[in-house]
Amino acid sequence: MALPYRPIITICGTTGVGKSKLAIDLAQHVVRNCRRFGWRGAKIINADSMQIYRGLDVLTNKIPEGERAGVPHLLMGFKQPGEQYVVGEWVQDTIKLINEMHENQELPIIVGGTSYWIQHLIFPSQLIHKDPSMSKISDGAVVSEMFKNAVHALSPDLLNLLQNLPREAPSAKIDPDKAFQMHQLLSALDPIISQRWHWKDTRKVLRSLEIAKETGRLPSTIVAEQSSVVAEGSKPRYSTLTFWLYAEPTILNERLDARVDDMISQGLISEVKKLREIASDQKCFDSSPSSPVDYTLGIYQSIGYKEFCGYLDALSETAFKEACERMKISTRQYAKRQISWIRNKLLPAVHAANTQDNIVPLYLLDATTLGDAWVQNVQKTAFDIQDAFLGRQELPDPNLLSMTASNLLKLVHKDVNPAFVLKARKRRVCTACTTQANRPVMIEEGSEWDIHLKTRSHRRLEAKNLHILHDGQTNMSNVSDTASS
Ligand SMILES: [Zn+2]
Repeated sequence: MALPYRPIITICGTTGVGKSKLAIDLAQHVVRNCRRFGWRGAKIINADSMQIYRGLDVLTNKIPEGERAGVPHLLMGFKQPGEQYVVGEWVQDTIKLINEMHENQELPIIVGGTSYWIQHLIFPSQLIHKDPSMSKISDGAVVSEMFKNAVHALSPDLLNLLQNLPREAPSAKIDPDKAFQMHQLLSALDPIISQRWHWKDTRKVLRSLEIAKETGRLPSTIVAEQSSVVAEGSKPRYSTLTFWLYAEPTILNERLDARVDDMISQGLISEVKKLREIASDQKCFDSSPSSPVDYTLGIYQSIGYKEFCGYLDALSETAFKEACERMKISTRQYAKRQISWIRNKLLPAVHAANTQDNIVPLYLLDATTLGDAWVQNVQKTAFDIQDAFLGRQELPDPNLLSMTASNLLKLVHKDVNPAFVLKARKRRVCTACTTQANRPVMIEEGSEWDIHLKTRSHRRLEAKNLHILHDGQTNMSNVSDTASS
């Protein structure tokens, strides 16, 4: 390993898979073997974007004080609800802590479900320094200038939509107006990313809008950063050993459902009540950049908060059941997104870095079965790998750990560069086929577009339009402001 030996351990994976427990196990293992590797101890740094907030301990699944076995947990519960805290700030704070720990011969263990943060910690990205928001961290700006300006330029209608994004993506068939308006909002905020999605892809459009809102940054900026990481095959900041804790979704989902029921018995509703009182005392999101608190951001985005606010308004048994059901669905969807981030973003970056050498070892640990199997597949395996890593011995092949590992560590897409995918899969409006400006016909550029141009329906409409044009009437070029550019 050519890097200066500054090791860190990172643990990522979905919610409810046992990451926090493994982190504590690994920290204790370091302490038990302190003589062997020369570490005086280990500390855990939180990488969960909701657990950084004070409050909602049950809802955000913070590991209770009593289960921390005396291992210090840093960057946990230190922000006010509603305060924004973005990836750049977390990376800076974490680097500072890691450096301090290394000076004290303490091993940093970074654990959390926000793999996006972990990825930016592992790989320095050039663009992150160019982003205006990052240079302003010291004076408290947490939303990128580009995003702030785009929000300011929104029409009242679109601003209102941004503040009240639907919980679930509307169906383009049932509510085409809403679907199209969401796409318009995305094109107003981030024209580059909006070209990637058809206005009927309401789930993708909503997800992009949520990302913008959650991160305070433009999704296209994030994609560009991701690409710089992949394209450069960038070198990691530290000697990093990563564990990806994985459980089969069908099994995990049952566990996640049971956990929601557990949370309710542990006082989830009173937590939501308390937080809602704080929110009602605070100013609402008024699009003013000086407004320090936004009750639609920060911890208020935790899964379960919105859902149970609905119940507190109604206080009926039906509303309670509905809140539980919604929270379970949202949690499953979140777990799915977490896996897809790791497979589609983190793995390509790791593969790119490892083309020469296994400099960023990443191991999938199969946490599907609990009990003895967990001890064997997760805990003991992680101990052995960590020992080899800290002892600077040869590490095992990640693909040989299990069948699940060899299947899931394969790259999903050949084109791993996100910016390339964004550019290659741009959609354009077919003006000939578009008969209603607010229902544009959008086709993916490249082969789909070529095929489309040859279709009978397109040729017929094109001929018709030419005919109209010759007759001196207007054609449909006025729709091009939707997404074609
Ligand atoms: Zn057409």
